[in-house]
Amino acid sequence: MGWNNDFDIGAILIIGLLVLYYLVRQIIPIKRNKIFLNMMINVQVFALFDILGSASINWNIPLIFKFTFNILYYACLGLDTFLFGYFCYALTDKYREHDSSLLQKIYFVPLIIYELCVFTTPFTGLIFDIDNEGFTYGPGRIIVFINIVLYLTIGEGIIGKWGRRFRRMYRYAIAGYSICLIIGNIMQMFFMPYITMVAISETVGILTLYLSFETPENFIDKKVLLYNDEGYNEILFEYIRSGKRFKLVEMGIHNFSAMENVYGIDIRERALFEVGKYFRNKYPKHLIFYDDGRFYMFFNPDEDMKTIYKEACERFNETFHTPALGVKVSPYFAYLPEGYYFNDEKSLRTTMDNALYKAKDGEDMSVVIINDEIIADGKRDKKITTALERALDNNELKIFYQPIYDTKEKRITCAEALVRIDDPELGLIFPDDFIWRAERNGSILELGQQVFEKTCEFIKNYDIGKYGIHYIEVNLSPIQCMRAQLADEFEQIVKKAGISPSMINLEVTETASSSNMLKNNMLKLYTFGINFSLDDYGTGYSNLVNILKLPISIVKIDKSITWDYFQKGNTLLANVVKMFLERKMDIVVEGVETEEMARKLSEMGVHYEQGYYFSKPVPEDIFVKYLEDHMEEGSYNI
Ligand code: C2E
Ligand code: CA
Ligand code: CA
Repeated sequence: MGWNNDFDIGAILIIGLLVLYYLVRQIIPIKRNKIFLNMMINVQVFALFDILGSASINWNIPLIFKFTFNILYYACLGLDTFLFGYFCYALTDKYREHDSSLLQKIYFVPLIIYELCVFTTPFTGLIFDIDNEGFTYGPGRIIVFINIVLYLTIGEGIIGKWGRRFRRMYRYAIAGYSICLIIGNIMQMFFMPYITMVAISETVGILTLYLSFETPENFIDKKVLLYNDEGYNEILFEYIRSGKRFKLVEMGIHNFSAMENVYGIDIRERALFEVGKYFRNKYPKHLIFYDDGRFYMFFNPDEDMKTIYKEACERFNETFHTPALGVKVSPYFAYLPEGYYFNDEKSLRTTMDNALYKAKDGEDMSVVIINDEIIADGKRDKKITTALERALDNNELKIFYQPIYDTKEKRITCAEALVRIDDPELGLIFPDDFIWRAERNGSILELGQQVFEKTCEFIKNYDIGKYGIHYIEVNLSPIQCMRAQLADEFEQIVKKAGISPSMINLEVTETASSSNMLKNNMLKLYTFGINFSLDDYGTGYSNLVNILKLPISIVKIDKSITWDYFQKGNTLLANVVKMFLERKMDIVVEGVETEEMARKLSEMGVHYEQGYYFSKPVPEDIFVKYLEDHMEEGSYNI
C-alpha cells in the first residue's frame, strides 16, 4: 500500500514561505518568536521525513534508512506540540514572572518517554514496523496521539490559567491551533491512515497563530520601520531576565512637537524615517526601537560610546532630507552604561524616562548618564508611588493647614488645607512629589475626595468657626473638575459632615477654566453655597475673559510673582493687585515670608496674605493651638 504525500508538499511550500518572511522581515529576537520559528522549521523537517519515510518504503535501500526516516518523522512530530506548549508558556505572565515552577521541571518528561518509545521502535515494533512486506503500524501507535493531546492540553491549560490578560483573538487563535492538530491527527489515525494529513493540519494551525499575532509586523513601527515600543518592552524584559550585558541609549527630540507645527506631520514623519534609516544603516546589527518621537538603541558592552556620540553629533549637525526640504533634528540622550542592575523592565524604563526628562532641559545633543544618584531617585520614585497607594487604601492622608491673614480684620480668618503623606520609611512626603503622580494614574479623584472629607470633618470636629475662621480653602485638581459627579459628591460630603457649605472655599486653577464641565460643577456648587478661589494666578497664560465668566470671588497670586516683586523689583505684582482691586475682587498674596513683605502688601491694599511669616502649614492640632494663641487683637505687628 502506498501513501499519498501531496498534503506534505503543500505544507512544506506554505511554511517555507512563512519562514522566509520571518527571516527577511527580521523577527525581534524574543523567546516566543524564537520558539515559533522553531515550530515552523520543525514542521518543515517532519513533513520532509514524512515524504521520505513513506516513499522510501518502496525503494530498494537498506532497511536502516527506512527506519531512520520514519523515526525522524515521529521524533519531530512529538517535538511539535512540545514546542507549542512552551510557546504558550512564553506568552504568559508566568513566564514574565520568571517562575520556574515544578511544571517546568517535569515538562520534559513525557517528551523523553515518547522519544524513547520512538527511538527503540526498530527493536520493539511499538509504534511501527518495517520489513520486506512494507510498513505496518505498531500496537503502541496511540502513544503518538497521546503525546500530542497531552502537550496541547498543557498549552491550552497554561493559556487558560495565566493568559488572562490576553485578547480574545489570541485565545481563539491558540484554541484554533489545537483544534487543527487534533482533527489532522484523528483523520490520519482513524480514518485515512495512508493520506498524510498531520503536516498540513499543523500548517493551518501555524497560519492561524501567524495571522493572529505572530507576524513580525506586530513589533515594527510602520512609519519609521524600526522595532516598536512593544518590542522594546519584550527585549528589555528578556535581557533583564537573562542577565544580558548591554549599554543602552534613549534619544528624545527637542523640537518634536515644534516640528509638527512648523513642517506639518508628513514632513516630520519623513524626517524621523530618515533618522531611523541613518541608525539602521549605521548600526545594522544593533537592536533599534522607535516610539512616538523617541529612539532606543542597544550597544554591546565593548563599544566605544565616545566615538558613537561624536559621529552622532556630526550627523545631527546636518539636516535630514525630506522630499520638500532639509529638516534639522535636535536630539538629547539618556545613556545607561553597562553594569546597573534592574529588577524589571518597568524600573529600568522609569529610570531612563527620568534621565531623559533631565536631558531635555539641556542643549542640543545633551546627554544624561545614568549614575547612582539617578538610580536612587528612581527607587524613591517607586517608593513614593507605593506610599501614595498605601495612604489612599488606608485613608491615611494627612491634612496640614496654613493660616491666611486678613489685613482688614488684622487676624487669621481663613486657612488652606494642604495634603501630605506620612510614610513610615520616607517620612513626610510633600504634594509636589505625589500630586502629579496621582493625576497621572487617576488616583487623584480618590485623593481629592479624601482630602475634602477630612477637611469637612476637621471643620466640624473642632467647630473651627469659633476661632473666627470663616472658611477653609481646599485645592481641586483640574482632573477632578472634569468629573461630572463632582458637584453631587461634594454636596453629599458636606451634608454628611453637617457643616455649612460656606465654610468651604475651593481653589481651582486656570488650566481648567475653559472647560464646560468645570463651569457646570462650579455653578452647581456655587448655588449650593460653596465659594471659589482662583489658584496660582500668574503662572500660566492668564485668560481674564475666561476667568471672569466663572463664579470666582478670590484670586490667589502665586508666590513666584510675590518674590519677583520683592527680590527683583518686578512690578507685575503691583499691577495685578491694582487691576483686581479695581474690579472689586479679593486677592490672596502667597509666599509672604517676612514682616516687611507683610506690611508692604497690606499698604498696597491686599486683603489676604499667606506665607511662612505667619505659619508654615501645620497639623490640625497645632493649627488650632496657633489660632488660640493669636486670638487677641494686636497679635500681629503689621
Ligand atoms: P499651592 O496651592 O500653591 O499651595 C501653596 C504652597 O506654597 C504650599 O506648598 C505651601 O506650603 C507653600 N507655601 C506657602 N507659603 C509659603 C512661603 O511663604 N514660602 C514658601 N517657600 N512656600 C510657601 P505644598 O503644601 O508643598 O503644596 C504644593 C502644591 O501641591 C500646592 O500648591 C497645590 O497645588 C498642591 N496641593 C496641595 N494639597 C493639595 C490637595 O489636597 N489637592 C490637590 N489637588 N493639590 C494639592
Ligand atoms: Ca492652593
Ligand atoms: Ca497657590
